[in-house]
Amino acid sequence: MTFPLDPIPAPPGIAAADQALRPAFGQMKRFGEWYLACPDFRAAAQLDPAGTADRYGLELTGAEARALLLRDLLGDDADLDGVPDTVLAFREHQRHLFLNANRWRCVGEGADPRFRAWRQYQVERCEIEFGLLVNSQIAHAPAAVELQQGCSVGCWFCGVSAPALDSTVRYTPEVARLWTDVVAALHQMCGPALASGFLYWATDPLDNPDYERFLAAWEERVGHAAQTTTAQPFRHLDRVRALVARSRGPHAGTMRISVLSLPVLRRLFTTFTPAELLDTELVMQMPDASTHLSRAGRAANAEANRGASRIEADDDSAARTIACASGFLVNMAARTVRMITPCHASQEWPDGYRVVGEGSFADGAEFRGLLGRLAAGQALRPLPGQARLRLRPPLRYEPAFEGFDLHTVSHRLRLRSRPGLAVIGEMVAPGAGPSVDEVIARCADDGVPPGQARATIDMLDAHAVFDDQWRMRTGPAVTVPG
Ligand code: SF4
Repeated sequence: MTFPLDPIPAPPGIAAADQALRPAFGQMKRFGEWYLACPDFRAAAQLDPAGTADRYGLELTGAEARALLLRDLLGDDADLDGVPDTVLAFREHQRHLFLNANRWRCVGEGADPRFRAWRQYQVERCEIEFGLLVNSQIAHAPAAVELQQGCSVGCWFCGVSAPALDSTVRYTPEVARLWTDVVAALHQMCGPALASGFLYWATDPLDNPDYERFLAAWEERVGHAAQTTTAQPFRHLDRVRALVARSRGPHAGTMRISVLSLPVLRRLFTTFTPAELLDTELVMQMPDASTHLSRAGRAANAEANRGASRIEADDDSAARTIACASGFLVNMAARTVRMITPCHASQEWPDGYRVVGEGSFADGAEFRGLLGRLAAGQALRPLPGQARLRLRPPLRYEPAFEGFDLHTVSHRLRLRSRPGLAVIGEMVAPGAGPSVDEVIARCADDGVPPGQARATIDMLDAHAVFDDQWRMRTGPAVTVPG
C-alpha cells in the first residue's frame, strides 16, 4: 500500500472551519492532555466532566466535555450519536493530522530499489512482531541524524540509553558543505519518504545551538521540515516559541515537546494558549501519566532494578521499543552511520533496535559510498538456495485446506491456493530449518514445478514470514558487495 506524497486534503468543510475553530480545538486538545497527564483530573472528569473542565479553566460546554470522554473517540467504530458538531469537527481535524503525519510510512517511490525493498520488508516484519496497531504507530523513518553525541537531559527512562552530552557539531562553513552532501545523499537513497526523517535520536536537538540552521538546510533540500522533539521547553523558550509558531501546515514537520513532570505541564499551559499549542504534540512522560513507557533502554534497566512505575504490561502486543526508524542512523559528530530497524528490546538489542550494518565517513563522497554499501549489504533477495527456512517468532502455524494460517500477535495470515504451499508449510513449521533447495525438491516430488515452488517461497519471504535473524546467526556467511 502507498500513500500520496502530497498532503492529504482535509475533508470538505474542515479546512475552512479549522481557522474559526482553532480556539475551540485548542480547548478540546488541552482537555485530553490534562486527562492523559494528571490522575486527579482523570478521577474528577469521570464523575463530573463539565465541572472539572470549568475548574481547570477550560472553555467547554458540558456536552463537549462528556463527548471528549467517549471511548475511542478517534477510532473508525466510535459511536458518535449525540456528539456535538464542534467535537465532530475536532475529531476530523485530529484524524486528518494523524493521516498526514503517517503518509510517508509505506512510501518507497523515488528511493534506491535495494533500500526500498529492505525498508518495506522491515514494515512487514514489524507487523508480525509488534502487531497491526503498534506497527501502525511506528513511522519507519528512513533516516535519523544526531547533531551531537549524547544528551544533556538524562531521563531515567530513556529508551535509547542516551549517554551524557559530549560533543556538538557547529554549523561552520566546512560542516555546512558536508551537510549539503549528507542530506543530498540521504535524499537520493531514501526518496521523498525522507520527509519523515528527523535530526535527533539519543540526543535532544536543542542541545545544539545551530539546530535551526541544520533544519533549514534540510528543509530546503527535502521540501519538508524535519520533526522536532525536545524535552527542554523552558531552557530554550525563545527557540521553542519559534518552532511552535512554525509547526503549522502540511510541510511544517511535527513539533513535539516531551513533558517530564506536572509542574512543567502547568507552566506550558500558562506560557502558551491552547490555540498556540494546537499543532504541537505534548508527549506525557511524567510518572502518573496514563500513557506507557516502553520496556527498552534505561527504562528496562530501571525496571530490572525495581525503580520504575510506568512500564508496559508484559503481553505479546506490548512494544518493547521506542525506535521508529528503519533506515540510516547518522551521527555527525562521530561521522558514523548505522543501518537500524525496530525490534523488541532484548539482551542482544537492549535499546529496541537492531543494527544490521555500520561504517564511518570523512567527507560527502565517502558518506554516499557508505550508504550504497549498506543498502547493497541488505539486498539479499531472492533467497539463495542454501538459505535455511524457519518461521519467524511469534508466528503460530495452523494447517488448512490448500494452505495454512499463520497467527501473529494481532491477526491471522490466511495463505491458500499457491503451488507448493501445503508442502512448504509442513516442512518449515517444525523448525528444523530445511534449505530453500530442499523445500523446492520436496515440492517437485509432489508434482509442483520448481519455478512455481520458488515463486511461492519468494511470496512468503516478501511477507517476512521466515526468520531472517535466525538465518543470519546459523546460516552460511554472506559476502557483502564492496
Ligand atoms: S529521552 Fe530524549 S531527552 Fe531524555 S535522555 Fe533520552 S534522548 Fe535525552
